[in-house]
Amino acid sequence: MSWCSIATANFSDNPVREPPRLLILGGTTEARELAEHLSARHGKRLEVMSAQAGRTRAPLAIAGKLRRGGFGGAAGLARFLAHAGIDAVVDCTHPFALTMKANAQIATMAKDVKFLALHRPDWPRSAQDDWIEVDDVAGAVVALAPLGTRIFLTLGQRDLDAFAALKSRFFLVRLIEPPATFPFAEGELLLNRGPFTLDGELALMRRARIDVLVTKASGGAATFAKIAAARQLRLPVVMIRRRQPPDVPSVESVAAAVAWVETTLRLLDPGIA
Ligand code: NAP
Repeated sequence: MSWCSIATANFSDNPVREPPRLLILGGTTEARELAEHLSARHGKRLEVMSAQAGRTRAPLAIAGKLRRGGFGGAAGLARFLAHAGIDAVVDCTHPFALTMKANAQIATMAKDVKFLALHRPDWPRSAQDDWIEVDDVAGAVVALAPLGTRIFLTLGQRDLDAFAALKSRFFLVRLIEPPATFPFAEGELLLNRGPFTLDGELALMRRARIDVLVTKASGGAATFAKIAAARQLRLPVVMIRRRQPPDVPSVESVAAAVAWVETTLRLLDPGIA
């Protein structure tokens, strides 16, 4: 029997403790919503802990316990799962957080912990969209060159420096928190956290006379308005594609993740209350 099939066989044999313990790997709107729904529905019958990388200095409040900071790779996460007595893990990390996704898959397999990934669907592309799809930030810099001089950058602060190679452009940059440096001679920094509205995005892009939007293909409702606004204003969008996520059991919505947790941890069984 292969190591993989031993692990699979053990999955269903693992007893669930009382109250069961769930770890949500977060840093996203969905992670916060999942923690909120489960805490509201099950209260003390379920221990919910959310883990965040700790990238933002002032994270939003979250239901249940919060753990901030990395685990120390897949091995560190595996040790944590065993030590904290975690029964199940839901990976709600951002579609571009591929290291954490891989670590979660490896660690849960190693410790026979039940595992689900919430894979946020891609944004729907319509016939009116003018998307220039690229593989990474370097590809986005190259693609931008002929597309205009007033650029709306909606990427993380770690991605900004690469765009400073483009001279004589205006950069409208939106982040949650101020970056260590603003690497552009001409531009504007907006500090704001979604969700954003279509009217708000239209007004912003018109005011800043934006020629082109740059974004990761993050998906999700909270930031879709910028895509809809670019569509309406007929602006090109340089879209950094997603890589393929690990092939693991997954769902696409918070509601489906709630249902999985309830079934897997037997929260709806009569007599478990
Ligand atoms: P990443 O490259 O996949 O992960 C890098 C390291 O950060 C991981 O190896 C892990 O450190 C730690 N880490 C990541 N997510 C964690 C979590 N939920 N809890 C505890 N530790 C975590 O991730 P990233 O792209 O830097 O993103 C970091 C976090 O920001 C993620 O949680 C993600 O959901 C959120 N986020 C990312 C983006 C994006 O565009 N990448 C956008 C919005 C939100 P150890 O190896 O030490 O465990």
